Amino acid sequence: MAKFVLIGSGLAGGLLAAYLGRRRYDVDLYERRADPREGNIVGGRSINLAISTRGIHALEQIGIAGEALRPAIPMRGRMIHDKSGTLHFAPYDVDPRKCINSIGRASLNAAVIEAAQRYPNVRVHFNHKCTEVDLIEPVCQLETGTGKLTVHGDAVIGVDGAFSAVRASMQRNIDNFQYDESYLEHGYKELTIPPAPDGSWRLEKNALHIWPRKSFMMIALPNPDGSFTCTLFWEFEGERSFATTKTDDDVRRFFDEEFPDAVPFMPTLLQDFKQNPTGSLVTVRCAPWYFRDKVCLLGDAAHAVVPFYGQGMNAAFEDCVVLDESLEKFPHDRHRAFAEYFERRKGNADALADLAIGNFIEMRDKTASKAFRAKKKLDHLLEAALPGAYLPLYTMVTFTRIPYAEAKRRARIQNGIVYAGLVAIALLATALIVYLL
Ligand SMILES: Cc1cc2nc3c(=O)[nH]c(=O)nc-3n(C[C@H](O)[C@H](O)[C@H](O)COP(=O)(O)OP(=O)(O)OC[C@H]3O[C@@H](n4cnc5c(N)ncnc54)[C@H](O)[C@@H]3O)c2cc1C
Repeated sequence: MAKFVLIGSGLAGGLLAAYLGRRRYDVDLYERRADPREGNIVGGRSINLAISTRGIHALEQIGIAGEALRPAIPMRGRMIHDKSGTLHFAPYDVDPRKCINSIGRASLNAAVIEAAQRYPNVRVHFNHKCTEVDLIEPVCQLETGTGKLTVHGDAVIGVDGAFSAVRASMQRNIDNFQYDESYLEHGYKELTIPPAPDGSWRLEKNALHIWPRKSFMMIALPNPDGSFTCTLFWEFEGERSFATTKTDDDVRRFFDEEFPDAVPFMPTLLQDFKQNPTGSLVTVRCAPWYFRDKVCLLGDAAHAVVPFYGQGMNAAFEDCVVLDESLEKFPHDRHRAFAEYFERRKGNADALADLAIGNFIEMRDKTASKAFRAKKKLDHLLEAALPGAYLPLYTMVTFTRIPYAEAKRRARIQNGIVYAGLVAIALLATALIVYLL
């Protein structure tokens, strides 16, 4: 069987290794960091994430959903915190059983790596950093703690995240390789709400909490130990921003003004704010995602998106399913398999990138408004009245496997019909009033 060299054993790398292992390929997976199961979680990436239908389906297909999701906490809707501390709960779907799930990155990472290692034909090597890929051979240059290593394979898959070394080699060596990266003017910082003294959660456990403040926001997701991981999304620069908030007093003043109901639950706020890194938020679009039958990209390496739809990892897991299906369809022609995978995923990844940026504006600004809540209620009414025919965009993205591009297109048409219907009703009502007068 062919030998695959995978670079990066993050969330998608481990899962892909399991899928390829099941297909009996020979797999060597190289990760630049130490084994995450030894507690070496590095700051700069989210501590927990929301997993939903697409990600769960990918885990189910390889038979590990039960074990991987055991520590997950269901979140049934958004809990909106306004400045006065008043709470509004907005369920995610008309069906209260539909929820997204908060899961620790480390535990999910461990679950997928363990799933891969159950196949004797999969080997995982930590502390191996890829520095360069020769696309033609293909050959990877790796650095270990003690020296350098060259590894050969029949194919190399770059599953090495948003700042992929494999993609960088493709950029350098493929003529007309298309590459676009754009950074938001907002960064993010993780903060903590620890458990109450009795170990319970200090906020509603089964919700994703949002403090929308128009141009910025804070969110919080529950963890199994009773804590919440909060993420502040805020401008890097500007009058009030990460750049201008330097002293303890600045930080305290900002939080007291903007998140007064959260502050009493954040005893380590100043420490967290100073010590935790400020991450940047990048969207990466590139093409093609493959070179002949030799090299291929998957997950954030191919299509990093901003995190506001909670879909980056879900999409990366969906990539694993599609690449697996493509290899099944063309078992003897890997070039066609890679091309098919790219055809099926590229438009969807581009659509998700747009949706994710759109959802930032919705979360930080619109969720606070009555109009937003009325629209959500109308969405749920229409969904209940027209089952299967009307599906809100959030539902299609989060609770179905309808391709992202199709969901985006369908939502545009639905919105057009709903707005036309509302205008028609308003016109009819006006005509009736005029007639009756
Ligand atoms: C703040 C934040 C919140 C998020 N929340 C969600 C969410 O709720 N739901 C969701 O679905 N997605 C979420 N995401 C997105 C999600 O984290 C990513 O989409 C997901 O991690 C992508 O998986 P990946 O395996 O492609 O990349 P990664 O998880 O980044 O893994 C890449 C791996 O490659 C390794 N690597 C990198 N370079 C090299 C090299 N040169 N050699 C060897 N190894 C290398 C890295 O160490 C890493 O282990 C969030 C992202 C952020 C930043």
